[in-house]
Amino acid sequence: MKDRVGCVCSDNQRRFLERAFETLDLEGTQRQLLLHSFREVVVQVPLVVHSESGAALHTYEGFRVQHNQARGPFKGGLRFHPSVSLDEIRALAQLMTWKCALADIPFGGAKGGISVDPSELSTEELETLTKRFTQKMAPVLGEHRDIAAPDVNTNPQVMAWIFEEYSKVHGHTPAIVTGKPIELGGSAGRLEATGYGVACVTQQAARDLKLEIDGAKVVIQGFGNVGSQAARHLAEMGARIVAVSDVSGGIGNARGLDIPKLLDHAARGGPLAEFEDADSMTNAEVLASDCDVLIPAALEGAINCDNADQVRSRLLVEAANMPVTHNADHALRERGVIIVPDLLANAGGVIASYFEWAQNIQQFPWDREIVLSRLRDHLQSAYGAVRACLGPRDGDLRTGAYEVAIRRVARAVELRGF
Ligand code: NAD
Repeated sequence: MKDRVGCVCSDNQRRFLERAFETLDLEGTQRQLLLHSFREVVVQVPLVVHSESGAALHTYEGFRVQHNQARGPFKGGLRFHPSVSLDEIRALAQLMTWKCALADIPFGGAKGGISVDPSELSTEELETLTKRFTQKMAPVLGEHRDIAAPDVNTNPQVMAWIFEEYSKVHGHTPAIVTGKPIELGGSAGRLEATGYGVACVTQQAARDLKLEIDGAKVVIQGFGNVGSQAARHLAEMGARIVAVSDVSGGIGNARGLDIPKLLDHAARGGPLAEFEDADSMTNAEVLASDCDVLIPAALEGAINCDNADQVRSRLLVEAANMPVTHNADHALRERGVIIVPDLLANAGGVIASYFEWAQNIQQFPWDREIVLSRLRDHLQSAYGAVRACLGPRDGDLRTGAYEVAIRRVARAVELRGF
């Protein structure tokens, strides 16, 4: 059977949820409430774009979906990518609700994005686009209403523009976004937090499989914020990163890539394919590499029906959001592959965002060690809650994670009497 990726994210998400609903005693109306968004906003953002052929007016579509706020203000990233659609943002917003609940932080779930290829815009054009999007979305944002963060192709600079635009009308409001530059109230440790969390959860799951992370062979798809920081921390724990890829292609080295050197290369803007001391590989070859741990850290749907049978790892850690389709998840579990689901594996980012938000509200910064050690504690508790929920059941960590999260959100909804 062919499975569907990309624009039908919400279909995959719904099927994962329904698997968890089977063991939860929820009424039909409760299920419906949990499946649907609280609010979905679509805006048109006009921008004059300059190119070699002259200036032309473009209109970009922007989205913000707020899924559930029973446990706290809406929280979620903002992505700039040509494939952004309402369906994708809706599924990602819902995933944020479950992720925040599983991590036990006081936020609900949201997500936003603009359907744009930012590499085609100048810095000035990107700033204007971001600020116009912020103006249009401002009525539904707020430090106690909806807080944005970086995601694919957005970064601390984009957050700084949102902060500036929002503050023009509402006064100095650093807590309106997380993932800001440190100079504007960003948190120490935030940039590395998601990748660091991926490394901590990988270590914990590997231990359960009696697999020592020291010396384990790891493959990472995607070498952006999450993938590169996961590589850094896993290499520091002794793992051998034998292959990595980005949108330009892949590289591998059976003895293990020199990660500090590769991070320097990437920081200088060098494409992965041009890194020395490594063999070049295709993206498909990277995903099919022989390894103990496979970490997809790029986009959703990377592992699907067409390539799931080529996965050769025992452990798969979803650093990206929704990188494994529902059908591929089924096929991999049938083969005994243990999957650490996105809502657990990459929750380090939103946990550190919560810490940043708390620091902004208190106007009291914490140092990096405190941020990372509290982050590790939160992830350990979340992992423990999933294991306790599964008990003697099989290793379907995804269903366990959803069950824990859904129970917490459903209880909050019930208590508040929505
Ligand atoms: P990013 O834009 O920094 O990096 C994305 C990486 O994926 C880049 O290296 C890009 O070249 C690569 N890529 C894109 N298409 C690819 C392809 N077809 N094959 C191989 N590589 C490809 O984004 P990011 O912030 O690192 O986010 C990556 C994933 O992690 C996304 O799913 C995002 O939603 C998720 N995530 C991010 C955070 C965060 O804090 N940034 C938190 C939680 C989840």
